[in-house]
Amino acid sequence: MNSYEELLSKAYNSIPKKALTQERFEMPRVDSFFQGTKTIVRGFNQLMDTMRRDKKHFTKWLMKETALPISEVNNQLIINGKVNSYQLNKLIESYYKQFIFCPECKRPDTKVITEGGTKLLKCEACGAVKSVMGL
Ligand SMILES: [Zn+2]
Repeated sequence: MNSYEELLSKAYNSIPKKALTQERFEMPRVDSFFQGTKTIVRGFNQLMDTMRRDKKHFTKWLMKETALPISEVNNQLIINGKVNSYQLNKLIESYYKQFIFCPECKRPDTKVITEGGTKLLKCEACGAVKSVMGL
């Protein structure tokens, strides 16, 4: 008769490897610098491609969070005030927490869908569909 440990190790070995190793997610980092009294964020399009969210939604949200006027010029985000890269990365993190990470499985593989005029967060990893405030 198999011991409990043997049974356990058998069960463990039969789990597909993919379920055990979850690839680590890396938050995108902003590439920013000060120009006079302004903050310039480079590679805005690439950043939004990574985040897979609407530029306008992100810019509007960022304006609200920083209480600063922000415009987009030639793939750059021009913030009318000084926000250092540490603060910007923290803001990106908070945007991810609010609008990107799946509330169920916490993975970033989500997209925005519209159902009956309501915007919802749909997770491509676990299939969860959630309404998110301010999406
Ligand atoms: Zn999910």
